[in-house]
Amino acid sequence: MFETLKAQPADKILSLMAAYRADPRDDKVDLGVGVYKNADGQTPIMRAVKAAEKKLWEVEDTKSYTGLAGDTGYHDVMRNLILGDAVSPDQVAAAATPGGTGAIRQGLELIKMASPQATIWLSAPTWPNHPSIIKYLGMPMAEYRYFDADTRGVDFGGMLTDLDQAKAGDIVLLHGCCHNPTGANLTASQWQEVADFLKAKQLIPFVDIAYQGFGDGLDADAFGVRHLAKTQPEMLVAASCSKNFGIYRERAGVLMAISQDPAKTALNQGTVAFLNRQNFSFPPDHGARLVTLVLNDAELRTDWLNELEDIRTGMLGLRQQLSDALRKRTNSDKFDFIAQHRGMFSRLGATEAQVEAMRESHGIYMVSDSRLNIAGLNAQSVPILADAIVAAGV
Ligand code: PMP
Repeated sequence: MFETLKAQPADKILSLMAAYRADPRDDKVDLGVGVYKNADGQTPIMRAVKAAEKKLWEVEDTKSYTGLAGDTGYHDVMRNLILGDAVSPDQVAAAATPGGTGAIRQGLELIKMASPQATIWLSAPTWPNHPSIIKYLGMPMAEYRYFDADTRGVDFGGMLTDLDQAKAGDIVLLHGCCHNPTGANLTASQWQEVADFLKAKQLIPFVDIAYQGFGDGLDADAFGVRHLAKTQPEMLVAASCSKNFGIYRERAGVLMAISQDPAKTALNQGTVAFLNRQNFSFPPDHGARLVTLVLNDAELRTDWLNELEDIRTGMLGLRQQLSDALRKRTNSDKFDFIAQHRGMFSRLGATEAQVEAMRESHGIYMVSDSRLNIAGLNAQSVPILADAIVAAGV
């Protein structure tokens, strides 16, 4: 049997990390992998998470199974964090999942069960796991224009023109905030326009929100998903706690199926629990429980909010420093988009050859599509990157 297996393509980011480790230069800069790093290059455990772990160790008295859909206390805090008062609790079915990726996978499986003919529309570009999982599940997919290579902003006209080709019942996958890999995001009024458009065309939004709190703040980052939850007859949300709680390896995510008709919620809840059962039975609980503890404890919550805000403003500061350094070097506003992008990533708009040249000449490691992880920078590496960008003629 095993001899029939085909070698899978190497993960681009993992190969990049290996090349980075092998580079002997002291001033090399890793802007590849998508994890938050502080100025010392560390991915720290957040203070409130560490405190919650201690508390959990003291109070937890069993490691027996949770419910199939996870703990309802976790569903409640996640619904509040993401949706605020945009919906009433009886409109939302929720299931804890292994990370945001697990939530995306379970959401796609729900779509496959409920509406196998639906095409999943993806932004061009998007996080590569989206098309990869959809292809693996054998579901129809299509792309809508999203990134404008000239302005490095959103090609909103192109997006709506392409989505006009979608048929009623198709699914539109949207990044809730901090678009990966481009960093270019919809404005509040564009979200409103998208909502009207989707409703008129009877398209169903599936929002992937993995960076809430990394862009313009927790509430501002949830504007789009909340507006859709208020206005659309039904939608799906896949959320990740990996980034905003810094608990990547704990695998905490949530899938929410939202309907304006609360009569559908019990059926949706049964379905998401069933899907968990088919794939892994009970979801991981440790990370979910830490998140619940942090969000339900006034002191821990405040500390988490403060640390998250420091992370967010730190990345905004780095964006500004890089864009200023490039303004100085190029005497132009060509790279101002870096300060306007939000989240951990920006797509520079460099060619693969230019990305390669920056690696050779300055030891800058970024993904070949020219996505750079802003959190990989610090005050020392900003000028090195700015020099490399200019030298490569980006
Ligand atoms: N969606 C997007 C757009 C992401 O970038 C990520 C993380 N790279 C995820 C979802 C899910 O992350 P995780 O499974 O680690 O929670």
